[in-house]
Amino acid sequence: MVNIDSITSTSSFSNPMLRLLSLYGVSNIRSFLVGFLANLFARLSDLVPPFLLGVAIDSIILQDKPFSIPFLSNSTLPQYPISQFWLVVFLIVSSFVLSAILHWFRNWGWNSFSQNIQHAIRVDTYAHLQNLNMGFFDRKHKGELMSILSNDVNRLEIFLNDGLNSIFRLAAMVLGIAILLFYMNPALAVVSLFTIPIIAFFTHNFTKSIQPKYAHVRDSVGKLHSRLNQNLNAIQLIKLYNTESYESSRVEKTSLDYYNANWDSITTRIKFFPSLQVISGIGFTMTFLVGGFWVISGDILWISPRPLHAGEFVTFMLLHQQLVWPMTQFGQVINIYQRARASTVRIFGLIDETNLLPEKPNASELVVDSGKIIYQNVSFGYSRDKVLSDISFKVGKGESLAIVGHSGSGKSTLLRLLLRLYDIDHGSITIDGNDVRDLSLKSLRDQIGYVGQDIFLFHGTVRENIQYGSFTATEEEIIQSSKAAESHDFIMNLPSGYDTIVGERGIKLSGGQRQRIAIARALLKDPPIFIFDESTSDVDTPTESLILDFIKTHNSEKTILSIAHRLSTIQDSTNILVLQEGVIIEYGTSEELLHKKGLYFDLWNSRNI
Ligand code: ADP
Repeated sequence: MVNIDSITSTSSFSNPMLRLLSLYGVSNIRSFLVGFLANLFARLSDLVPPFLLGVAIDSIILQDKPFSIPFLSNSTLPQYPISQFWLVVFLIVSSFVLSAILHWFRNWGWNSFSQNIQHAIRVDTYAHLQNLNMGFFDRKHKGELMSILSNDVNRLEIFLNDGLNSIFRLAAMVLGIAILLFYMNPALAVVSLFTIPIIAFFTHNFTKSIQPKYAHVRDSVGKLHSRLNQNLNAIQLIKLYNTESYESSRVEKTSLDYYNANWDSITTRIKFFPSLQVISGIGFTMTFLVGGFWVISGDILWISPRPLHAGEFVTFMLLHQQLVWPMTQFGQVINIYQRARASTVRIFGLIDETNLLPEKPNASELVVDSGKIIYQNVSFGYSRDKVLSDISFKVGKGESLAIVGHSGSGKSTLLRLLLRLYDIDHGSITIDGNDVRDLSLKSLRDQIGYVGQDIFLFHGTVRENIQYGSFTATEEEIIQSSKAAESHDFIMNLPSGYDTIVGERGIKLSGGQRQRIAIARALLKDPPIFIFDESTSDVDTPTESLILDFIKTHNSEKTILSIAHRLSTIQDSTNILVLQEGVIIEYGTSEELLHKKGLYFDLWNSRNI
């Protein structure tokens, strides 16, 4: 794993691909070198057969040149044509065998390079993502984030494996062949290589026009994922409201945007590839024309330094043919590069997201003692609009504070601030005299058991869901907290008891059962502070009373903050705080507030049973 600090500090790279390779390529340099060197030598060994073919034609078959092979001294070479022929056969077979071995190493090297990098990026990006504050997740679509973590990261495979491999392979081939061509016949080499600058010019133009198009494709695929993700999560709602055709047309529209973005990039791409083929073809024809005249007439225009032999010309043309192919492939490589670049930009967009709740370098570890929570002149708004204004109250160990108010008055927000899911704008929140902003986030959240309205259960067993976050809890402890949360009996009646799979988000359980499992989870954690945010709203009243009785009697040492819809459940709270539009309008015991005949009194009459 790469350190997140080092990730952000290397953002000075203007090219995302260089940044990617410098961050993750360096630690995988071993497999890169195996792939790179094996690739290089494999390509060089691929050049041996056409070269030997020319030698065989000129020196053995036509016998108009002395037999000689580069890197082998003439004195070691056989004298007779048949032995020379066998030597050539042996060298050709050897070069094929060597090439096969080198290709194996090449594939091993590149694949391990690509897989290791993808794995590291996926893990690092996810780790960074889950440290971002809730404000970031409020803004972003989950489907879009999923699309970056899965699609965009996977898309790098094509570049890291095939693309990077091809860049080096093609560069080695073009360079190797160009050197060989110049070595064989410099004048003819100039003719065959004059297309390279023209190809470079076309490639440059293609790169400039395709870059924004690929960025658009990645954006629209993210939006499509987001739409599909939302719809699949809302499938029950869609059925209940008969909105299938409405949703189908929304999906169709998003898919059409993706289609159009893709088509736009495809039309640019498919124009580029054939133009490279035409240019390379012109280069090939020119070489054949000039070389052919040279062989036939022994002279061509102003160049006639020496005669050009037919075998030499065949080798030259075969080698040139090997040059034409990589040149046309170059377009594919640029294309792969540009697509990966668009994905890399999106991945680094997430990594560079600095929406972190700052944790002080010397953040202290919270160890709750008196359990005293003090809100002092707290104000907060999610964006510009204030949700809470000038909130002050105290609650300590053995006490419980209930928060009451109309929907949207800021009750949940008030409690979320204690967990530091968001930072307050003014005032302070302290626990045992420690400002929550001075504490390590881990220790703060370790000391608070939270059961919210929106219960989340993972797809797994009942036991795994209760044990979530208290992974070392024993079976006995799990059963005890389940009993306290009035869950044990219903769990034992499930088909496999504690081993029953609850389904995605706990779909196989009732709302009340889910809530009781979430309460068991919080009780198992056994923290000094509890927050219950309408956590018993789906539980029937007698069961709710049993749970609350247990919490009160067994947790006399705890600090409890709660929000309840049914006011009968909170009437015994030490104090009740009544919120209206983010402002405290009443504060006191249930009895005091009933006497006051204010909002609490009205709510009591309208909601109580
Ligand atoms: P209550 O719990 O009393 O029903 P909330 O604390 O949930 O109220 O919400 C208070 C106000 O804050 C509401 O106006 C709501 O629209 C707004 N709000 C709640 N959560 C968010 C959020 N994540 N982003 C922006 N606004 C929010």
